Amino acid sequence: MSGDPFVFLDRDGTLIEEVGYGHRLEDYALLPGAIDALRDLRDAGFRFAIVTNQSGIGRGMFGREDYEIYHGRLLDDLALADIAVEKTYMCPHAPADGCSCRKPEPTSLFDARDSLGADLARSWVIGDHVKDVALAANAGCRGILVRTGHGEEERVQLGDTPVDAVVADLRAAADHILGRG
Ligand SMILES: [Mg+2]
Ligand SMILES: [Zn+2]
Repeated sequence: MSGDPFVFLDRDGTLIEEVGYGHRLEDYALLPGAIDALRDLRDAGFRFAIVTNQSGIGRGMFGREDYEIYHGRLLDDLALADIAVEKTYMCPHAPADGCSCRKPEPTSLFDARDSLGADLARSWVIGDHVKDVALAANAGCRGILVRTGHGEEERVQLGDTPVDAVVADLRAAADHILGRG
């Protein structure tokens, strides 16, 4: 069994500003250094997917169309930088829905293994929540917690959750993965 190494990226608080259920274009902002970090990972042979919980949809706070526009802005910005996101795994459910697609459930990463050819043992998850690094553990990847977004609050709640590194931001996460830390 082989495949390609992936970096699975959380969105809010990792790639773009955490603004609390972000869905309005006026709130959209890429985090500093994100593009450069992704370019370096791309050049090192990593492929990308985004894994994002958007419970604001399930909670009735915004619609799928709002999500598509907001998320589309990010994909456009990344495409302009020649960063290909091969798939976005988006969970629209509220926690109480008990779905199987909400992080840290690993169904998204198993799909990436089966349909995109991800080699999970050589892949990483980067995010600002405990559930992001728990996702990594549940899927057999390595996880990095960034301190952007909610990362500062989340890091003290890691408990026994396996984490490969806690770093300042996506730029530092890329350096860690690439052995430049
Ligand atoms: Mg996040
Ligand atoms: Zn779901």
